[in-house]
Amino acid sequence: MRVLVTGGAGYIGSHMVKLLGERGYEVLTYDNLSTGHDWAVLYGRLVVGDLAYKDKLREVFGEFKPDAVMHFAAYIVVPESVREPLKYYRNNVVNTINLLEVMEEFGVDKFIFSSSAAVYGIPEKIPVSEGAPLNPINPYGETKATVERILRDLSNSGKDFRYVSLRYFNVAGADPEGKIGFAYPNPTHLIIRAVKTAKGEFERLEIYGTDYPTPDGTCIRDYIHVVDLADAHIVALEYLLEGGQSDVFNCGYGHGYSVKEVVETVKRVTGRDFKVVEAPRREGDPPVLVADSKKIRERLGWEPKYDDLKFIVKTAWEWEVKGRG
Ligand code: UDP
Repeated sequence: MRVLVTGGAGYIGSHMVKLLGERGYEVLTYDNLSTGHDWAVLYGRLVVGDLAYKDKLREVFGEFKPDAVMHFAAYIVVPESVREPLKYYRNNVVNTINLLEVMEEFGVDKFIFSSSAAVYGIPEKIPVSEGAPLNPINPYGETKATVERILRDLSNSGKDFRYVSLRYFNVAGADPEGKIGFAYPNPTHLIIRAVKTAKGEFERLEIYGTDYPTPDGTCIRDYIHVVDLADAHIVALEYLLEGGQSDVFNCGYGHGYSVKEVVETVKRVTGRDFKVVEAPRREGDPPVLVADSKKIRERLGWEPKYDDLKFIVKTAWEWEVKGRG
């Protein structure tokens, strides 16, 4: 079984490529290395290319003949998407259309899409389930919601095309074997910033807002280990290979931690104290974002292995101190 992975040299994509390789899938990574790294691709061939180049994509599809495509390549920085919306729509939407068109030309009909909880915006009900309205509050979330609508329409068009869209909550942690992990310049994510502060790379950690309507006043998020997330893609792929219909699933554990709880866990796991300061709220942060994860557990049989914040932080920390993080 051959799987083409776009963005396979990036953070989540490289963990996907590793898991696919370990499970015996043939894998090819297509990545422009704008933020990814060649050393992160542990299995299969890496083709350095951009999704803007359809001819290059056609070449790869012709040679590799994938059975399915997993599409990770996208821009992900929310504030940048506010400043540079066209850059985000071009890469995240237009380039996805290029990929879907080439899939159609080559008769590849199974697609797994990296979506995001950002499609919900500020949900009315928590935990948020897949039936909640798509109501993104920034261009990044809009691009993911737009692609979801394109996928829905393509799947309903009568053509041979089935997809699974996975809406990621807060992905964190690193390969437990320490071979790969997060390696992106100017990280904004809480766990990465906290472990880098513990390491001494940043002087202090800022908590963005302590007056939210939550028990300790800081935002609550559903942190999911990157290997459990990669495993969700495997069960989604198996589902499509067995003839499953197009569908959308949340990827989170179904419970959350506050920023202060995360900071305490990072201090405990790393054994390092560091300076933490209270800062104003960051624009666009919903107070609580927690997945209703029943659907993926019940319909796809997904069973996460690393639902443990200490383990998530431990793998992120080990990568930071021993790896190339
Ligand atoms: N956060 C924080 N300090 C940081 C980075 C993040 O207080 O240095 C907070 C952020 O405001 C949010 C939570 O941590 O409430 C998770 O943010 P992150 O950027 O990791 O993920 P997001 O939920 O925005 O996708």
